This record gives sequence, C-alpha cells and structure tokens, in this order.
Amino acid sequence: MIIAIDGPAAAGKGTLARRLAAHFGYPHLDTGALYRAVARRLLEAGRAPDDAAAAVAAAEALSSDELASPRLRDEEVGRATSVLAAIPAVRAALLAFQRRFAATPPGAVLDGRDIGTVVCPEAEVKVFLVADAAERARRRAKELQDRGVPAIEARILQDIQERDARDSGRSTAPLSQAEDAFVLDTTQLDPEAAFRAVLAHIASRAR
Ligand code: C5P
Repeated sequence: MIIAIDGPAAAGKGTLARRLAAHFGYPHLDTGALYRAVARRLLEAGRAPDDAAAAVAAAEALSSDELASPRLRDEEVGRATSVLAAIPAVRAALLAFQRRFAATPPGAVLDGRDIGTVVCPEAEVKVFLVADAAERARRRAKELQDRGVPAIEARILQDIQERDARDSGRSTAPLSQAEDAFVLDTTQLDPEAAFRAVLAHIASRAR
C-alpha cells in the first residue's frame, strides 16, 4: 500500500508520516528533504536558488546520506527550497527516485506537496493535511526552539505564507489537493488525534 501525505508547510505531515510508517512497518520518505538537500548544496556553493543549471546538477548528484542532516530544517534552507522547487527540471530529476521508493514492496509512506497528484497518483491512501497558518508558525517555532535554534514566530509566519504562495502558485506540480484525498484539518488536533483520524479513514476504505 502506498500512503501519500500532502499539505502546506508545518501542517504536521512529517510527524503523521513517521507514525503511519511505524504502524504499518513501511519505509518513509520525507520528499521535502530531497528538495532541501538540493538547496543546502546550492547555499554552500554560494549559488542562487533560482540557478537552474546548478540546481539540476545538485539534484542529480544527491545521495541519500545527505537527507538526515538537521540543518535541512533551517528556515533559510526552507526559503531557498521553495524557489528551486518551482524549476521543472529539478522536479524531473528527483521524480524517478521518489517513484522507485514508493513502488518497492510491501509499501511506503511519502510526504510532500505533490505526492497524491504527481508522484503517486495511484496511491491507495491520500491524505491532505491543512492547519491555520498561525498555528503552523507556532509549531515550527517550537520545533526550532526545541533544537536550540532561535526562532521568531512572526518571521516564521511570514516565511510560511510566502512559501505556501510559491508552492501553490508554481506551474509544475503545485501544492494541491488530489480529488480523492482525505482532507484533515489539524489546527485543533494533537499528533495522536491526527494519527487516529487517518487510521480510521484507512480502516473505512478497507471495508
Ligand atoms: O515539507 P518541507 O517544508 O520540508 O518542504 C520544503 C519545500 O520543498 C516546500 O516548501 C516545497 O517548495 C518543496 N517541496 C516540493 N515538493 C515536495 C516536497 C517539498 O516542492 N514533494
């Protein structure tokens, strides 16, 4: 079974995806980390995030051990990421890896922006998470502070809104809800409640 989880920044996709992966015994791919790792390579090389040739070269050279770095979660990396993620050739360079990961038996959980619509339109389970932007900014600030990274919530809110606008407005694989997605608003839900709601949805589909 392929489980696709999409939604805007800091809606709780990663936490939910990890819990579902552990529950079903599937591997999990945080596809945002792929795009973030490309951004990190560009920033470290002093290249602009809209430098298409450098971004494609970085995407093609990516190795999976780069995906675990905590630095990928920094807001500076997130901002650069949504710029290069709009470049069609960068998305194309990362597509085959994501599809191979998803297609490997017995199944997988992938989270991102275009999993249910572009990467795995055939996924058996599609979840689209949403939450109020202010609540998402609060969560992201807490996540950074817990890691000892200073974070200003108002600045994060602005970043999140800019990033959502770029991700939703791009012409290739924009952030959008698949027609057959289960939409879950996590504004008032803690991670456990969100996990239970998705499990109930999966159980109802299996009947
Ligand atoms: O999910 P995360 O915040 O780590 O994603 C970082 C950025 O990567 C997003 O803002 C988006 O621009 C890009 N992304 C994407 N497609 C995906 C996953 C992430 O365009 N499937």
